[in-house]
Amino acid sequence: MQPQDSSSGTLIAGVRLPVVTAAESNMPAEKRVSGGLEDQWGRVATDLRISLTDRCNLRCQYCMPAEGLDWLPNDRVLSADEIVRMARIGIEQLGVEEIRFTGGEPLLRKELPQILAGVHRAHPEIPLSITTNGLGLEKKADELVAAGLTRINVSLDTICPETFAELTRRDRLEGVLKGVQYAAQAGLRPVKINAVLMPGINDHQAPDLLSWALSNDFQLRFIEQMPLDADHRWSREQTITAAEIRELLSERYTLRPYPGPRGSAPAALWEVYPHGADDNHMKTHEALGTVGIIASVTEPFCSTCTRTRLTADGKVRSCLFSQTETDLMSILRSDASDEEIAAAWREAMWSKPAAHGKNGAGFDTHDFVQPSRSMSAIGG
Ligand code: SAM
Ligand code: SF4
Repeated sequence: MQPQDSSSGTLIAGVRLPVVTAAESNMPAEKRVSGGLEDQWGRVATDLRISLTDRCNLRCQYCMPAEGLDWLPNDRVLSADEIVRMARIGIEQLGVEEIRFTGGEPLLRKELPQILAGVHRAHPEIPLSITTNGLGLEKKADELVAAGLTRINVSLDTICPETFAELTRRDRLEGVLKGVQYAAQAGLRPVKINAVLMPGINDHQAPDLLSWALSNDFQLRFIEQMPLDADHRWSREQTITAAEIRELLSERYTLRPYPGPRGSAPAALWEVYPHGADDNHMKTHEALGTVGIIASVTEPFCSTCTRTRLTADGKVRSCLFSQTETDLMSILRSDASDEEIAAAWREAMWSKPAAHGKNGAGFDTHDFVQPSRSMSAIGG
């Protein structure tokens, strides 16, 4: 079934997502017409994620079903020019300070260099990054850097070819490794690596992944698996928690909390020392590196969230777990002015939930409802 637009919302996986309208909102009128992307709880979103496509060439078990999804038809995906305009409105009218392009797989979007260059030319001060599975990066990294790409996150959950094939349902580890190495050579350092652990598949390999990242000077961050898989198989009991990740890594390393400030960063950082290192060793030796752990499930950081998301089909989502979204593409395609689009975007963000789950109760309660869009259809 294809998602369809209608005046009453978007149809995703058989569920119609309600659209928030100005008439239903309690947003003060003056906040609608000027200022940044503030919400009713006092947070201000400055970090924009734009999904460039819902398509992907992998089928990671925690994200996509084996058979893929019903891809959006091209005319329902924001064009390169529309994306550049939305980015510009975000920066110029709404105080956006950084943009990350994602998907689906953003490298599958042929106009990626054109989109980066369009935003970068108008606003060279804004950091532009991508989150990618790394496939094909070796052919594109130079062009992307020349177009204005400043940072890269590559998602890689294992360095074992068999486990990679099982987890992503594609035998393509070699291609990803080639892509990551090339990105580093092309000047995209520090390369960040995102990893999700699944029980019985790659969890026991966590120390191997960390050893590989440390030896290549890549910054590894583990992300707790969230209930955003298209197969709806996620369960709280099956989630490898931040505490368990630390325990797994402690089989080979000693971890010590990173002494610097965390700010609004989602990852808690840990310094990594050799196994058995005591206080004296840690005082007299430098750490081997750091590792980040993003505990979205067990220690959510909603109160400091600064994100706003635009899906490939032009919907604003104030939160990964939103049950509502706002259709900016229809507004954009109705010849609206930048100011009108900015007002609708502010409106969308005003009703951002305080935290995940019903009344902010998190994922643990039985009334938590997984959003009908899965991670690749939102843009992680
Ligand atoms: N295809 C690109 C990639 O994999 O990097 C970009 C899109 S992907 C949806 C963005 C990030 O979301 C990846 O780092 C992936 O590991 C993460 N992700 C996907 N499903 C997830 C889930 N259920 N829980 C936690 N992270 C997830
Ligand atoms: Fe594709 Fe990224 Fe989802 Fe994996 S996590 S299936 S690479 S969109």
